[in-house]
Amino acid sequence: MNPAWQQVADGVHVWRYPVLDVNVTAVSGHDATLVVDTLSTPAQADRLRRALAELAPGRLVLVNTHAHFDHCFGNATLAGPDTEIWAHEATRRRLADQPGQVVAEAAARHADDDPELAGLAAVTPLAPNRTVHERTVLDLGGRRVQLRYGGRGHTDGDLAVLVPDAGVLVLGDLLEVDAPPQFGDAYPISWPATLARLLRDATGPVVPGHGAVVDTGYARRQRDELAELADRIAAGYAAGTPAERVAAAGPFDLPTRREAVARGYAELAG
Ligand SMILES: [Zn+2]
Repeated sequence: MNPAWQQVADGVHVWRYPVLDVNVTAVSGHDATLVVDTLSTPAQADRLRRALAELAPGRLVLVNTHAHFDHCFGNATLAGPDTEIWAHEATRRRLADQPGQVVAEAAARHADDDPELAGLAAVTPLAPNRTVHERTVLDLGGRRVQLRYGGRGHTDGDLAVLVPDAGVLVLGDLLEVDAPPQFGDAYPISWPATLARLLRDATGPVVPGHGAVVDTGYARRQRDELAELADRIAAGYAAGTPAERVAAAGPFDLPTRREAVARGYAELAG
């Protein structure tokens, strides 16, 4: 069954899709609706397309928060020939230059997670056609939104969306709720400062990549946990401590910490 739209602010709605518990955010202006993230498959994106038509008929502008399949593989289904698809330049590069690798990784890791994801290997990703370097302002008609890059974090190309008139911040997987942060492609040492930069202008609801919408207090607490983990990793690296010993304690669960320490050591080694 399809989820219902949850209104989190005036003209800002979240569609929390049950498979992988992933969020799509729709920001409505007079001229266009900004759709942040596009789900994992053409079938899921087709459901989203119909839900969007009921919520806000009219022109869509798409944003991918990063290059992971569950946030961008629905692009081709939602986009027409003239549709703008925005992403950070690193995300566009990855989807444009290495689509085969992105699909193969997604299918290898996630095709068995749910029957809806069984066809992941057959998806042809559509790369973004507009890029953000650090900050881009889009006018949706009577409403301006900011697309922001805060630095490396969950990936090397995480884009956040700020809706200043509503105080809403959409963070993609830089913030995770109801599941631990995912470090598979992450930069654990850089991540806390990236999140702190993006949270500076947030005043209202904060939309994570997965899980329930939260407030800035929750997001700052997760930033603190990420910072504690980064400090432990940096101290362990400086002291030459084996990764497994560093991963033995700290925030989040053990498999999450193991991945974070491995990635953090690699980040510190350059
Ligand atoms: Zn992700």
